[in-house]
Amino acid sequence: MPTTTAAQSALECLVVGAGVAGLVAARALRDRGVRVTVLDKAPSPGGRLATRRTDAGAFDHGAQFLTVRDPRFGALVDGWRASGAVVPWFGDTLRGARGMSSITRHLADGLDLVLDARIERITRAPEAWILHAADGRAWTAPSLVITPPVPQSLALLDAGGVALPPSVRASLDGLTYDRCLAGLFAAPWPDGLPPHGVARVEGGALAWLASNRAKGISDGDAVTAHAHPAWSLAHWDDADAVVLAALGAEVSRALGGEARPVALKRWRYARPARSLDGVAVHRDGAATLVFAGDAFAADGGRIEAAALSGLEAAAAVA
Ligand SMILES: Cc1cc2nc3c(=O)[nH]c(=O)nc-3n(C[C@H](O)[C@H](O)[C@H](O)COP(=O)(O)OP(=O)(O)OC[C@H]3O[C@@H](n4cnc5c(N)ncnc54)[C@H](O)[C@@H]3O)c2cc1C
Repeated sequence: MPTTTAAQSALECLVVGAGVAGLVAARALRDRGVRVTVLDKAPSPGGRLATRRTDAGAFDHGAQFLTVRDPRFGALVDGWRASGAVVPWFGDTLRGARGMSSITRHLADGLDLVLDARIERITRAPEAWILHAADGRAWTAPSLVITPPVPQSLALLDAGGVALPPSVRASLDGLTYDRCLAGLFAAPWPDGLPPHGVARVEGGALAWLASNRAKGISDGDAVTAHAHPAWSLAHWDDADAVVLAALGAEVSRALGGEARPVALKRWRYARPARSLDGVAVHRDGAATLVFAGDAFAADGGRIEAAALSGLEAAAAVA
């Protein structure tokens, strides 16, 4: 656990969030000789790269695939491919080998990672930041990278009474996120979908329909159905059964067979509605705070944006 002894203080960093942004930042920091600890409230790393295993099969229920545009991300992805974490899917898309969480499991390997650590407050110490977990644990370091969706990150600072410079705060307050209701269904796939298992369904609630069996990550007929952002917002307060019935009817129609509901996942912060050009950095004496995540790179709301923000966050710290 990082401490704040004078000799070490320049070389210690805490990272909140073990999604792509936090893990890429942590690996880059480690490569620069920084002692880094990553904390996440979840029992496993991944964030919005999420693979759920059920009796009906395995579901990628968050991000579905990745594509590469920026050569810096391409270099990272080459490493993921070489390690076997990523394989080609269709067209120029790539997917996690055993589901998208293969990527974040690979990134987390060898890092100092504290799971089940729900941070509820961030406060200041002289020349350092203190993370306070809901269960009473605390971590201190002079540098901090925070990667949850921005409204959640700001809430942690507000709870600890940390005020940001007004210009920084104003740019962050303006970031909002689209929602996504994700229905998981047991459903036959071959008739309604092309061989790679993906369909963009026009005109109704659904934005995306994918067979996880055709994708190659599930033995069962596990189908992921993502609703459009506008539909997700309009139906956010509906009961799970109501949402699943509406999405299930569309899935059944598209596949030509009955879709049995397995679970509903609510992504309140699915993707930023708009993004900033780079990470937001706040330096106060020896204490450095960096906001990173998929809202902090051009063309945000993608795995690539999250990863690039992680690289940039590490460069801002060390
Ligand atoms: C339904 C859906 C479909 C998508 N499809 C694609 C796609 O096909 N291709 C693509 O490129 N992108 C896709 N995306 C976007 C992609 O998933 C994200 O851009 C990327 O995963 C974001 O990574 P991140 O590290 O910025 O944030 P996250 O993955 O959200 O990581 C933030 C982490 O912070 C943790 N955290 C939050 N609050 C706390 C706290 N208080 N204490 C401790 N930990 C905390 C969370 O548990 C989480 O692990 C999709 C997203 C969704 C939701």
